[in-house]
Amino acid sequence: MHNLRIGYGYDVHALADGLEMVLGGVRVEHHSGFVAHSDGDVLIHALCDALLGSLALGDIGLHFPDTDPTYRGVDSSLLLERCMSLVRERGWELGNCDCTVMAQQPKLRPYIAQMQARLAAVMGVEADCVSIKATTTEKLGFTGRCEGIAAQAAVLIFKK
Ligand code: MG
Repeated sequence: MHNLRIGYGYDVHALADGLEMVLGGVRVEHHSGFVAHSDGDVLIHALCDALLGSLALGDIGLHFPDTDPTYRGVDSSLLLERCMSLVRERGWELGNCDCTVMAQQPKLRPYIAQMQARLAAVMGVEADCVSIKATTTEKLGFTGRCEGIAAQAAVLIFKK
């Protein structure tokens, strides 16, 4: 095994009116929120899958099944912490991660710095190791119609 590995993650959650939106570990003001077994934080879920993927450890559904009542409404930060531990327990450390959230609404720019700080704290890395970007999909597709929000994440890990 070499000293560097990459991981990639993707997640989607549907939106419904009147639910709370937590994204990137941060409460986002919006009229709708995620329909999910957990808190539905798509950004964190994509990041978890990227971390797990970097060491071929399966996916988030394998580690935290949505049939398990333990994870009902769970703060996804806890899942991210656990994924990071799985990486560290094997002697690896996060180099950096780069994430994109695809959302027509709400505008996420005002929250990005807070998300970066939060995710860095949860993963125990410097804030400049965590990149979060947001884009609309130009009103196209399910994200464009505000039916859901998608997120992608890439990570690079290195052997300690
Ligand atoms: Mg998910």
